[in-house]
Amino acid sequence: MAYSYEAPVSQSLFDRASAVTPGGVNSPVRAFRAVGGTPRFMVSGTGPYLTDADGREYVDLVCSWGPMILGHSHPEVIAAVQEAVSRGTSFGTPGEGEVALAEEIVARIEPVEQVRLVSSGTEATMSAIRLARGFTGRAKVVKFAGCYHGHVDALLAAAGSGVATFGLPDTPGVTGATAGDTVVLPYNDLDAVRAAFAAHPGEIACVITEASPGNMGVVPPADGFNAGLKELCAANGALYISDEVMTGFRTSKAGWYGVDGVRPDLMTFGKVMGGGFPAAAFGGRGDVMAHLAPAGPVYQAGTLSGNPVATAAGLAQLRLLDDAAYAKIDAVSAELRSLVGDALTKEGVEHTVSAASNMFSVFFTDRPVRNYDDAKQQDVFRFTAFFHSMLEQGVYLPPSAFESWFVSTAHDERAIERIAAALPAAARAASEATA
Ligand code: PLP
Repeated sequence: MAYSYEAPVSQSLFDRASAVTPGGVNSPVRAFRAVGGTPRFMVSGTGPYLTDADGREYVDLVCSWGPMILGHSHPEVIAAVQEAVSRGTSFGTPGEGEVALAEEIVARIEPVEQVRLVSSGTEATMSAIRLARGFTGRAKVVKFAGCYHGHVDALLAAAGSGVATFGLPDTPGVTGATAGDTVVLPYNDLDAVRAAFAAHPGEIACVITEASPGNMGVVPPADGFNAGLKELCAANGALYISDEVMTGFRTSKAGWYGVDGVRPDLMTFGKVMGGGFPAAAFGGRGDVMAHLAPAGPVYQAGTLSGNPVATAAGLAQLRLLDDAAYAKIDAVSAELRSLVGDALTKEGVEHTVSAASNMFSVFFTDRPVRNYDDAKQQDVFRFTAFFHSMLEQGVYLPPSAFESWFVSTAHDERAIERIAAALPAAARAASEATA
């Protein structure tokens, strides 16, 4: 595909980056390989906008893959960071900021009685499954195809997100022994979960699922699916782990738990709770968390866990996320979903706008999408054309057809008008695209 616009400064930065970093990026999906073209190197962000190294401004619908729920450079978050940083950047001791952040999480999310702070979502899920194995004395982990839980060895099998983007069934470097303890099932299929428990009696430590998946595109749980998982886990002595790294503090004040009310044994968080800094967490039932060192025998640690600057940013962000903020985000999301749907319908492009609360993505198919196999049936080439047209017109979408779009409280009428103005040409490009 030829691109009618250029990004010379980003291109030269990408050339420099490629010389010193594999693929030129520090996280694969940033490299634009799924859509082609030059990844944009961003230099600043304000509200709903990002500015790249060539001086072009974009309305941002990625929001750093979720964290920037108040938009970029929110003054109160920046002030909290500046105040924290003025007192030092890391002490390697306990501090009040991490207590306050843990209290905020426990206050918002009722099933979380105790919480441990870590630095990334990957660490959170890795630690949660270690704890589940330590608590139950069992080895096997059930996960669902298309759900991404970070790059934890045991959880990379049939993962979504970047792994979906690159079409890698698995990754070299994960040993057979590690993968052998992971049971991968189709999403939204309780019969498959029942069959797995029957096939591995007394062996399954936990079922881990994205609370509402966003890493194969947005594919919400069918009615009763999460409740069914919880029931099957309880009946079989396994823990139910809800990964809310993406949905946590985004889909409602209490994340997806606030939407469906199904009570997990353990939960994982990241993204929004860090305010744009590396902060994440896992938590849940007090009797399970009591197995974690130093209270219990399951080891887990981190030099920068509960970092004072990261916790100050996260706490400031969470404190600003009140009912009015969620109402605003939900309204922006609803307006954009209908604008995108209308533009694609007008051009006769087969599509499904799939939403889970205010998270949404567009599948370029009109067949129902209930799992990863369904998601892969879409016309990815139409997304590619749509993406580049939007980019050229100054709208930054996730550079993959298998990712959620994210909005923020900062997406105001002006930003939405800019997106609306770009949509007709992008829908036309999608309609004219060929495989
Ligand atoms: N779990 C889910 C549901 C995610 O979406 C992600 C990242 O996108 C992770 C875990 C891993 O988080 P991190 O990238 O912070 O390691």
